[in-house]
Amino acid sequence: MSGRIIDGTALARRIRQEVKEQVDAFRRDAGRVPGLAVVLVGDDPASQVYVRTKERACGEVGIRSQRHHLPGDATQKEVLELVEGLGKDDTVDGILVQLPLPRGLDPQPILHAVPPAKDVDGFHPYNLGRLTESGEGIHPCTAAGVMELIRSTGVEIEGKRAVVIGRSTIVGKPTALLLLHANATVTVCHSRTADLAAHVREADIVVAAVGRPRFVRGDWIKPGAVVIDVGINRLDDGKLCGDVDFEGAKDVAGYITPVPGGVGPMTVAMLMRNTLAAARARG
Ligand code: NDP
Repeated sequence: MSGRIIDGTALARRIRQEVKEQVDAFRRDAGRVPGLAVVLVGDDPASQVYVRTKERACGEVGIRSQRHHLPGDATQKEVLELVEGLGKDDTVDGILVQLPLPRGLDPQPILHAVPPAKDVDGFHPYNLGRLTESGEGIHPCTAAGVMELIRSTGVEIEGKRAVVIGRSTIVGKPTALLLLHANATVTVCHSRTADLAAHVREADIVVAAVGRPRFVRGDWIKPGAVVIDVGINRLDDGKLCGDVDFEGAKDVAGYITPVPGGVGPMTVAMLMRNTLAAARARG
């Protein structure tokens, strides 16, 4: 039997609709609309596409987005001053610094300059600390999207073995923490993991966030497992594919996300949700 394909596009659409209704209510109560400031440095084509997608989603749900585009040779000081200024701007509820930043810029001090209350990406150490401590605070969007996708299957997370492949601060670590708070037994794998396939074969839930096309093979997947593919890889023919060999895995998995149409749209929907939550918290 073929595993069920989790439709991230449809789930994200439903969440955006919910956010839209809540934004309407916020506007009536607070007399203003939530505002998201997007900081884009340089001309990386993929980043420009992501920023446009996020701006389009803002327009759809009624969040006012403002783009701050600096040239690729902007200095650390210029970017920091911009972010600090947005931090003090009352019309801005959320600040998103589009990553990766051009070479020569150190992302950490820039991300740390975003006030935690406006940190809608959830990358500030304060929010990462709250996530570690209690699972509260603003959650990084992709990790939050992964959890929604798993929950959408109806599969109980508690007590399950989850394997997260990848340990970045953006995806792997926060996803592992959210799974841990949901009472899964979590293993985090990375480039130094010995016998990755053996870990994956034990997993009831697999989250792949590696950045290597079709890296996770179908014969690694435990029959019936929930497989969430975070990877976005562009192939030579221009097509996108994930970190999981979808064709090989889809007949073994119980549920699997496609690429595109899985985690990607959920990341954007979670950004909308985080921005609304930040606006509500500021009143
Ligand atoms: P990073 O490059 O920061 O992290 C990749 C992780 O994969 C690292 O922890 C690395 O291990 C691990 N890794 C690399 N090679 C192997 C290997 N051979 N075996 C096991 N683990 C390995 O990437 P990100 O976390 O930022 O992103 C991962 C993927 O997700 C990318 O394809 C990215 O484009 C995509 N992405 C998708 C998003 C979405 O919305 N759908 C959002 C963000 C990212 P080590 O730490 O040891 O180096």
